[in-house]
Amino acid sequence: MTWGREGQARGRASSREVSLSAFNYLQFDHGCQFITASTPVALEQIRDWERRGFLKHWKGRLGTYDAATCAFKDRTEECGTGTPDDQGFCNILCKGDIYVGSYCMVDACSAMYQLIGIEVKWDERMEHGQVCHETSALPAPVQPALSYNQALSVRRVSPAATSGQAHLCPNGLRMQVTSAAWQPGHGWELTTETGRGQKRRGQHSSLILADQMNVRKGSHGYVDMQAHNFCALAERVRAVKRSPRYSLMLALKQGAIRAPFDGVTVRNSSIIEWISRDTSKPGRERTDGVECWVAVTTEAFAQEVISEMPLFYNGEYVPQTKEVLMDIGSRIWDALKTILQPFIEGNPEPTYLRAQRWASAFKADPLGGPCMTELGLRMAACGDFCLSSSAEGAILSGIAAAEAIAELISQQSPTPTAQRAS
Ligand SMILES: Cc1cc2nc3c(=O)[nH]c(=O)nc-3n(C[C@H](O)[C@H](O)[C@H](O)COP(=O)(O)OP(=O)(O)OC[C@H]3O[C@@H](n4cnc5c(N)ncnc54)[C@H](O)[C@@H]3O)c2cc1C
Repeated sequence: MTWGREGQARGRASSREVSLSAFNYLQFDHGCQFITASTPVALEQIRDWERRGFLKHWKGRLGTYDAATCAFKDRTEECGTGTPDDQGFCNILCKGDIYVGSYCMVDACSAMYQLIGIEVKWDERMEHGQVCHETSALPAPVQPALSYNQALSVRRVSPAATSGQAHLCPNGLRMQVTSAAWQPGHGWELTTETGRGQKRRGQHSSLILADQMNVRKGSHGYVDMQAHNFCALAERVRAVKRSPRYSLMLALKQGAIRAPFDGVTVRNSSIIEWISRDTSKPGRERTDGVECWVAVTTEAFAQEVISEMPLFYNGEYVPQTKEVLMDIGSRIWDALKTILQPFIEGNPEPTYLRAQRWASAFKADPLGGPCMTELGLRMAACGDFCLSSSAEGAILSGIAAAEAIAELISQQSPTPTAQRAS
């Protein structure tokens, strides 16, 4: 059983859609920009998703951009030249293909639910859930494939069911697990909250925490596990340092930026770390003369903005208003115009401009192991805070946690009262 806070399986592999009219919308990959893989397990997984149409190979003009000299270098020239610590933004300079979700990054996640035959249920009190991309056709659902047990192998522990279940929440609403009470001999009793009251969700034989927020009191995804919030697993996960970023979403008239690239890791800029012509990614082509761009800031810039506008005030989380995000967006746009000056004529006016704050875009010091387990509590934790802070790190960690829990459950048969889910 998968419990998700959002209307789609996405997290930071997220995309923003902005409606222009009933039939036209802007779309930005404003979180994860692309997926790479350097390990055989992740590579095999990614290639399989590509074969099945959920990921596409991004064959754009990718490389590095030097903000001081305004020079672009193709990644074929740069690959393998960086130090192990500097392989460019999210390892773009490592050898290997660069992948993106077929139509947007969310497709890479939500399509996987269809692929493995997981039934997506909307919360009972809601109207039937909205389709995430009414205007972009998702690949047709594929019959569950055995090889996919690997991705979410918790499915294997549910022999009675041919598919798992995922509880997500319609767009615009949040439903999150707020508490998990450990009952020895029974398992974990979960409670969820939608803002319209709490609901008890029954017992689960084991628990996989898939976000560092789950153990950070005061954060959106905090799960109250009472004394178990102080178990060794929770303490270690909590200690991982977050590394913030802002992303900028920008819609401009086609050709307003005549840059010789589609996606670059930026060198010698204190503000911008990554720039991408989002529209150049496969499946995002447009015919309305508009181009969507995304820039990701440096950690230093994000830290500076967050120190001006702290995330918490008097212990309360401070959500960012549209006005604030437009203002920060303008600052990033000014920086972008400065470094791309040779490729911009005049002062183009964006038709859409907005920043997005990612307080925990990356993890600065991941734990180093594939996943964390607290087997006595039938609990595991996975995510990019474990092995490495990237989509690949998250994939490997998810597989490891699922396997650890599946192994545990196969050794200790669940008590009759505990539902077989995790
Ligand atoms: C701007 C930006 C650009 C990036 N670019 C790249 C890139 O190009 N390449 C790359 O490899 N990586 C990139 N990353 C990093 C990458 O996106 C992350 O490392 C990866 O997505 C982490 O996946 P995850 O599953 O560990 O966590 P997440 O994606 O954060 O997923 C955690 C999920 O758990 C849910 N959740 C949390 N608490 C609860 C609760 N209580 N109840 C229910 N659900 C809950 C959350 O809503 C979320 O959906 C980027 C990140 C950002 C922000």
